Amino acid sequence: KLPVVAIVGRPNVGKSTLFNRLVGKKLALVDDRPGVTRDRREGDASLIGLDFRIIDTAGYEDHDAQTLPGRMRQQTEAAVGQADVALFLFDARAGIVPLDEEIARWLRTADVPVVLVANKAEGRAGNDGVLESLALGFGDPVELSAEHGEGMGDLFEALLPLL
Ligand code: GDP
Ligand code: MG
Repeated sequence: KLPVVAIVGRPNVGKSTLFNRLVGKKLALVDDRPGVTRDRREGDASLIGLDFRIIDTAGYEDHDAQTLPGRMRQQTEAAVGQADVALFLFDARAGIVPLDEEIARWLRTADVPVVLVANKAEGRAGNDGVLESLALGFGDPVELSAEHGEGMGDLFEALLPLL
């Protein structure tokens, strides 16, 4: 049975972009509007020969600010509950925002290894966000560009001992 990796993080950080890159097919919808991934998606991923099952989270349908965090939390908890590893993505260009900190608090209470991932880190634009993320308490982030395929070797090295 393949190990399971869940991609978690607030809307628009690039979860579906990473999912698509790892699965190698456009199974998840990528969109500039936050929250367009309507269903939880699962696929078979391959990363430099490392094979695992991957879950893309964000199955909420409305953008109501009152209900969004609750639904995100449900999604995250359901995915993380069956995962061997959680990939916790943030937007390195945007830096750490309160919703990232809230997700970090849920993840600390979940009984799962967490790999922190600084996405959108192509170029040097993500440096400040990378430094800010150290305060989340998950160690040095893996710097990645899901869109451009940069940093995949570092992601492999972070996942290898956990799968
Ligand atoms: P999700 O809501 O977390 O699933 O995020 P998406 O995968 O739908 O991506 C949200 C937006 O970020 C889209 O416009 C993507 O093209 C963009 N994006 C994703 N990954 C990267 C990246 O590595 N670099 C940059 N600059 N943009 C990215
Ligand atoms: Mg998505």
